[in-house]
Amino acid sequence: MIDEPFFPTIDILKSRGQAQLAFHERAARATVEKFGRQVFLRGVVEVSNFCRENCAYCGMRRDNRGLARHRARLDQLAELLVHHRPVSITDLNIQAGEDPVVVREVVLPLIKILRRETSLGVSVCLGTLNRALYHELNFAGASMYILKFEIADPDFYAQMASPGTFAERLEHIRELAAAGWNVSSGFIAGLPGQTGAGLLANFSLARELPLAGCSVSPFIPGEETPLANAPIADIDLTLNCMAALRLMGTHWIIPAVSALNLAEPGIGYRRGLRTGANLVTINLTPPDLREDYVLYTRDRFIMTEERILSAIEAEGLKPSRQCLANYCQQKKATSTRARRPAVRVAEALNR
Ligand code: SAM
Repeated sequence: MIDEPFFPTIDILKSRGQAQLAFHERAARATVEKFGRQVFLRGVVEVSNFCRENCAYCGMRRDNRGLARHRARLDQLAELLVHHRPVSITDLNIQAGEDPVVVREVVLPLIKILRRETSLGVSVCLGTLNRALYHELNFAGASMYILKFEIADPDFYAQMASPGTFAERLEHIRELAAAGWNVSSGFIAGLPGQTGAGLLANFSLARELPLAGCSVSPFIPGEETPLANAPIADIDLTLNCMAALRLMGTHWIIPAVSALNLAEPGIGYRRGLRTGANLVTINLTPPDLREDYVLYTRDRFIMTEERILSAIEAEGLKPSRQCLANYCQQKKATSTRARRPAVRVAEALNR
């Protein structure tokens, strides 16, 4: 018997009680079957809150004049990451608003230092840049690009003033993957005005894109944004979306995003680990910059190494010792080798 590939319905995304529990357990089982009880641990540094975009939902939007804008100092970051990083992390994600200046002045030299001085795998989340800059980042040693498609409905994307245009965002995701990057994408659940059909469209789009990973973040109303008074996303809807992503993409890297703890204080994050996540992130942004790196509110819930390790242990999971970047490269190499005989057969038939 061949199983149909999983695709969610609105009913399953809205499930509660026993049906929801069974759904989450199914997603957790699928994760363990594929990845064992190991979760990847990645540090994140936020290096600039300058942003040329103006997303209606984001506190770093360019029209937010109340935010003091900063760029991190290369020497401070290098010292922290080379000599004082938590021992448990195998990878680092460098994140910023859409700020090509910080990419040149801080991110590129930082990646070179990290690749020379550490064995960390490097991910970047820097928005849409030009091809030359993507190439330089890859050449410097970053191998994973996080570029969320945010919203799969093009009209809603434009209405929310999401980055650039919808078509451009997708083009960049595809081009990055074609250029050899492992691309992780994702969307926001519970945005004000998101319809059931709009929510499902995110799954159809995620299924079509060439992704190594996919995330879902709960909408958190950002202070000083046009959506400041909108309600926060429902944590159950968000977790149901996570479970659905896991069942759709059993091989995907799916993070437990820190905003889960804002959507359900104290427990949201741990519930994420029970619902298909296999990646956690430790925030390493130096405190002086962290204060003004505001996606939502200034009262952020900072995921420290201690909090993360205790959440992992409490859920019966273990920190992976394998680097995420290496895992993705090895997986890509294995699937290319496995595909080769089939390609040869297809070529022979076409001759
Ligand atoms: N500028 C980069 C980009 O465009 O990909 C990366 C940084 S951006 C601030 C990181 C992510 O934060 C966005 O992709 C968006 O999904 C998320 N985000 C921003 N505001 C949010 C909110 N209010 N609720 C949930 N997610 C939000």
